[in-house]
This record gives sequence, C-alpha cells and structure tokens, in this order.
Amino acid sequence: MPITDAMKKQIAQRRRLFLKICMSCGARNSINADRCRKCRSSDLRLKNRALGAKK
Ligand SMILES: [Zn+2]
Repeated sequence: MPITDAMKKQIAQRRRLFLKICMSCGARNSINADRCRKCRSSDLRLKNRALGAKK
C-alpha cells in the first residue's frame, strides 16, 4: 500500500516547523538545542506552528 504524497508532505511540513529560532541572529536550531549554534545565545524561540494551520 503506497503512502500518499499528501501524507508525506504533511509530515515534512510538520517536521520543518519543529525548529527553534535564535532571537539574536535568527539562525535555525534543532528542536533539542539549548543554545544557538551560531552565536551561543540562549534566546531561542520555538517555531512550533499549530497543526492544522493549512494554507
Ligand atoms: Zn544566534
């Protein structure tokens, strides 16, 4: 049973939004990051959009 592309796309989009953004330099960091990998700042905000926010 093939997985539909729509489902794959959903997962991909979801993953892409699970990031942390540095407030100082704007770099993207992994969801597990405590500090920015670029500037070492700990001012990370979660880029965690609500699910179901479809365009
Ligand atoms: Zn940074």
